[in-house]
Amino acid sequence: MSLSSRGPGDAARVVVYTLGGTIASTDVDGTGGVRPSLAGAELLGPAAQSLGDLVVDVVGVRQVPSGELTLADAIDLSHRIRRDLDGGYDGAVVTQGTDTIEEFAFALDLLTSGDAPIVVTGAMRHPGELGADGPANVAAALRVASDPVMRGLGVLVVMNDEVHAARFVRKTNSANLAAFTSWTTGPIGRVLEGRTRRYVSPPRLARVLDPAQCLGDVPPVLLASCVLGVDGRLLERAVDLGYAGVVVEGFGGGHVPARLVEPLATLATVMPVVLASRTGAGDALESTYGYEGSERDLLARGLISAGFLDGRKARVLLSLLLSTGAAPAQVAAAFTLLHQSATGLA
Ligand code: ASP
Repeated sequence: MSLSSRGPGDAARVVVYTLGGTIASTDVDGTGGVRPSLAGAELLGPAAQSLGDLVVDVVGVRQVPSGELTLADAIDLSHRIRRDLDGGYDGAVVTQGTDTIEEFAFALDLLTSGDAPIVVTGAMRHPGELGADGPANVAAALRVASDPVMRGLGVLVVMNDEVHAARFVRKTNSANLAAFTSWTTGPIGRVLEGRTRRYVSPPRLARVLDPAQCLGDVPPVLLASCVLGVDGRLLERAVDLGYAGVVVEGFGGGHVPARLVEPLATLATVMPVVLASRTGAGDALESTYGYEGSERDLLARGLISAGFLDGRKARVLLSLLLSTGAAPAQVAAAFTLLHQSATGLA
């Protein structure tokens, strides 16, 4: 579809891509269990009536629970979004299952550029439940996607009338309507009385990926979380198992037991190994602790700091970088550049 740019007084145009999830789920077989089935105008439902003169086009992309989505889907969708925004849409909305929004939205953030808002949303309650939140979330997402004040903020996640930056947001409750949290900053905006409020403008992330170079075949990256008594046998087998990279979620600021140091240091000689904190917020430390297995020790042995990214988001970045064929030194440079752009640290 090719649209000319908006002239003064023209209605804003937003394109909506539907990928399934609870927001689209009904008891389509009469079994009592819901599964993704709605698309198009049916999915927009009552949200469509609250849009005023907004022009909305809906494109069905996938019809799946969000655990089925992959980074290859994010790469494909990013190309499509780019084409449609270049074609004249003012913003884009993606509807999907909430289980993987925090990873999928961040992948889109890394894969897209430009100022037009790209907003990801979903629902915690399916359309058949009392108080279903899908229509309100879609209406809020459309408001944000069509509001010039939300331009240039990177990919956003809108849930429960809150606007979150994709780089920070996490799903932190299995079923509550207020399931989405950005522990680092809080929401950057809200939708209230049908209007968008922007309280915080997150810094623009450096572009560390060329989406045109991301091949659909994304190499496997292991996310290994430290737990009490962790023995590290998976790390020792990472090469044999065919992993192309590893993200270690260390304790606290990024620490592992001494027995993992040697396996991690060995792995770091053959593939990128990224060190994140398993806590879910707060940057990985760089220069505080000096014991074996501390962040200083691990970084000195060739591990790459995840910086402000949690383990899941670091895995998304590492996977996408590897899909471009990036060498370990380029991976390290990309993590550093992204961290600097997000935090102002030089
Ligand atoms: N299981 C669903 C999914 O992620 C949950 C949701 O959409 O809220 O597809």
